[in-house]
Amino acid sequence: PLVLGIETSCDETGVALVRGYDLLVDAVASSVDEHARFGGIIPEIASRAHLEAMVPTIERALSTAGVTLADVDAVAVTAGPGLVGPLTIGAAAAKALAVGLGTPLYGVNHVIGHAVVDELVDGPFPERVLALVVSGGHSSLLRIDDTVQVTELGSTLDDAAGEAFDKVGRLLGLPYPGGPHIDRLAREGDPEAIRFPRGLTAPKDQAKHATDFSFSGLKTAVARWVEARQDAGEPVPLPDVAASFAAAVADVLTAKTIAACRREGVDTLVVGGGFSANSQLRDMAAQRCAEAGITLRIPPIRYCTDNGAMIAALGAAVVRRGLPPSPLDLPVDSTMPLTQVLV
Ligand code: ATP
Ligand code: FE
Ligand code: MG
Repeated sequence: PLVLGIETSCDETGVALVRGYDLLVDAVASSVDEHARFGGIIPEIASRAHLEAMVPTIERALSTAGVTLADVDAVAVTAGPGLVGPLTIGAAAAKALAVGLGTPLYGVNHVIGHAVVDELVDGPFPERVLALVVSGGHSSLLRIDDTVQVTELGSTLDDAAGEAFDKVGRLLGLPYPGGPHIDRLAREGDPEAIRFPRGLTAPKDQAKHATDFSFSGLKTAVARWVEARQDAGEPVPLPDVAASFAAAVADVLTAKTIAACRREGVDTLVVGGGFSANSQLRDMAAQRCAEAGITLRIPPIRYCTDNGAMIAALGAAVVRRGLPPSPLDLPVDSTMPLTQVLV
């Protein structure tokens, strides 16, 4: 079946077409530049941009793939989590298409899509994988069975990894979003120049799960270190700060994730979400997974940030498993639980 996927949870309007495990097209329009001067996503601006981009992006996807709406067998859309205004616009478009075409409608989970998109790149998931989904809003470790059954093994107690990068970017005076800028600077610096705290590496009382993360203490440590240099009238070595900070984040994420793989007896790790574009994380994950005998699956960067392919891929997985379609009045859920694949 040909699945059309629509993603609008944040600032990217994504439309993709997937048949089986094959991606026919992945069209994305982004409003990220319109938010840059505010230093964060403005939901109203994102909603308006989705409204303007939706029909042209659908048309572009169909014409690039050389198919028509009549060829579409199922429509999948992000039901949550995300910004309620943007989610509502994607859901309205998906409902209209499903009703007009007489196809089933599937409202699926954005965060799980960040992991399952990897099936389009590296083929079907084995029976059981662990998935580290790291993005602007999440740092979550999931166990995924049969592609569509999800158990939460850990999450962040405060900032997500991407969020911590964006906040440290702001305090270093870098443009929004800071994540990619820190990545670039870090490649010129010494990751061992400054020993920043790792945070929550030992189990603590406040952790909900065995594999919870915490990055706000690290962010504060970077702020203190930078302030101390400035107070002393000394220049701040931005590449060394970026490299040492990025190394601390990558160290915690990979060490805890690999420990969880061992504990769960799982030998395949999928990494996804916008922050998995981060080169320090990619390098450390590759090295440590190789040492631990774990198969690492990370999709190329264009499938790590928000896109329609991840939603079409999860839609295709749900169709393949024969799960029941969502109701046509599909409710969006800005705080959709990560264990819920489908509304
Ligand atoms: P969620 O998926 O949790 O709803 P989101 O959709 O906002 O959140 P994504 O678009 O998946 O998040 O990821 C965006 C985040 O990834 C931003 O915080 C951005 O700074 C970060 N990011 C992107 N590229 C890099 C990079 N190379 N290094 C570090 N961070 C990066
Ligand atoms: Fe995302
Ligand atoms: Mg984004």
